[in-house]
Amino acid sequence: MQPKKNIVHLPVYQPGKPMEEVKRELGLTEVIKLASNENPFGCSPKAKEAIISAVDNASIYPDGGAVDLTAAVSAHLGVQPNQVIFGAGSDEVILMIARAFLTPEDETITAFPTFPQYKHNAEVEGAAVIEVPVDEEGRHDLKAMLAKVNEKTKIVWICNPNNPTGTMLSEAEITAFLDAVPSRVMVILDEAYAEYNVTGEYPDSISLLQKYNNIVVLRTFSKIYGLASLRIGFGVGHPDVIRSVNQVREPFNTTGFAQKAALAAVNDQSFIESCREANAAGIQQLNAAFDKLGLRYFDAHGNFVMVDVERPGGEVFQGLLRKGIIVRHDPSWGYPTRIRVTVGSTEQNEKFLKALEEVLSEVAVS
Ligand SMILES: *Cc1c(COP(=O)(O)O)cnc(C)c1O
Repeated sequence: MQPKKNIVHLPVYQPGKPMEEVKRELGLTEVIKLASNENPFGCSPKAKEAIISAVDNASIYPDGGAVDLTAAVSAHLGVQPNQVIFGAGSDEVILMIARAFLTPEDETITAFPTFPQYKHNAEVEGAAVIEVPVDEEGRHDLKAMLAKVNEKTKIVWICNPNNPTGTMLSEAEITAFLDAVPSRVMVILDEAYAEYNVTGEYPDSISLLQKYNNIVVLRTFSKIYGLASLRIGFGVGHPDVIRSVNQVREPFNTTGFAQKAALAAVNDQSFIESCREANAAGIQQLNAAFDKLGLRYFDAHGNFVMVDVERPGGEVFQGLLRKGIIVRHDPSWGYPTRIRVTVGSTEQNEKFLKALEEVLSEVAVS
């Protein structure tokens, strides 16, 4: 049997080690995972209640159209219900956009390094992927990305804040880009960390939808909403675009548990507010400690910081792991001496920083 030739080179996703396995192998009683940008405070207690009461309907198919959740989210954002589509995480929305719009004749442009799913799903559809390196500060190089736009370009993916670097593009930068890009090119604004923003300069992308028909904004319940395990995220765009994406959507792509939990979560914005404040304080805590250690870091606008540990990132990762702290280092980022650490609770950050200081004294500077 012959698979599609454009998928044979794709790697199978390698999940991180389960926490229990790490504990057993290293003989640790406590492990702190700061590797996947999960919310250290969990989810809203109201979302938890909603999950528990949804158990009674576990034998019933979910609402394929996610009608109640669509109503709540569109009202929260101030858009029409036909502008919103839900997926099993925004990962699935990325997949559906690629499936609905990309062909082997198309080109698509991403930053590098950035969230890997844009490239992955474009390649599954056989589209060509043009990767444009981020600048010295870890920010998208929008000028260079614009220069790559040609008549074959179908989609430009902008990750804001960018995962893994954490940097942010302002509304002025985004609108300058949108003004320059032909309106037939779709621009995806992946805003998985939008709710963490505490600057006045983050784009109000939902309002930009009124002027730019070609943008799709992606958001998720996996990060600040703390519902990563339930797999739910969404896209917001022009009704015609959302309709096309809906045409390739599987009938029951989001679960009843996820829909109910997300509905309760979106209606508890005070939980989101408190997580946003704690995260901003956590970033300051980490940055202040990095300053003391003389380590450089990228300007962080999500719930994670990418720091240059000036030593082989893989060795620092292993050293931290032996002390029960899981962070992230990925050789494919092209930053051999950087690690990405998720902002934890004050106490988790303290434990990470203590372990980091010890590891830095053990591993030779490269
Ligand atoms: C975490 C993340 C997502 C999606 O997560 P889901 O759990 O699939 O919603 C999307 N984009 C970026 C940049 C992310 O970091």
